[in-house]
Amino acid sequence: MLEGKVMVITGGTRGIGLETVRVFKENKAEVILFGSKKETVEEAISKLKEEGMEVKGYYPNLDHIEELNKVVEKIVKEYGKIDILINNAGISANKKIEDTASEEFAKIMNLNVNAIFNMTKAVVPYMKEQHHGVVLNTSSMVSIYGQPSGVGYPASKFAVNGLTKSLSRELAPFQIRVNAVAPGITKTDMVAALPEEMIEPLIKTIPLGRIGEPRDIANAFLFLASDLASYITGEILSVDGAARS
Ligand code: NAD
Repeated sequence: MLEGKVMVITGGTRGIGLETVRVFKENKAEVILFGSKKETVEEAISKLKEEGMEVKGYYPNLDHIEELNKVVEKIVKEYGKIDILINNAGISANKKIEDTASEEFAKIMNLNVNAIFNMTKAVVPYMKEQHHGVVLNTSSMVSIYGQPSGVGYPASKFAVNGLTKSLSRELAPFQIRVNAVAPGITKTDMVAALPEEMIEPLIKTIPLGRIGEPRDIANAFLFLASDLASYITGEILSVDGAARS
């Protein structure tokens, strides 16, 4: 579905991001993954190599627009273009407001929101020149109703939806589509490590009766990145088994 397409993904070293890399490789895209550290990027690249998939990886500081500009320029020099950007890196929170330092709130907003702004800003000039592109953001089901603690996380994901909807309108004249996927609880390392007695009550709240797999989310990215979604932009696609609360 993605033959000849070049995709860059942040937070591509594990969880939802790593599975998205696999699905995009299976669909013949060229993939460049970003992670936060040299070691985790190298580890992901060698894991994928063992599975028969060749990918490149970088670990730019998503705070530094200059650094992002350089790495994006390097990628465009090597591959000739960037067709798809997936802004997936993110961190969560679960403390009550009185236990949360303002620095912690700022840290979440910085990675979950500002980094999307920075990364998109670095890539958009090339997409505009190409007169096509797809930007996909990872939101969350908590962007719909919030959550009862860790306010920074849902606040950041509401902002992700705002960025997605607004940029879809700003960039549509350049044939750049901007959408988000809003996963429910997804079995990444963190969730997989939870004890059965914590998982069971969670499953009971999900109408489809199971926790999401990273591949469920990766497949939604695949659809939105592909030409099957050529008339879809500004959409927040829930992939949560109808658990939206
Ligand atoms: P994860 O913790 O397994 O992976 C997070 C990724 O983000 C890693 O690749 C890591 O390298 C990257 N990252 C973390 N801090 C970074 C930093 N400072 N700079 C650059 N990169 C950094 O998480 P996941 O569960 O796969 O989550 C991926 C996305 O999905 C996040 O945006 C998260 O909010 C969202 N999400 C996850 C779930 C879930 O249940 N797992 C549910 C809804 C939304």
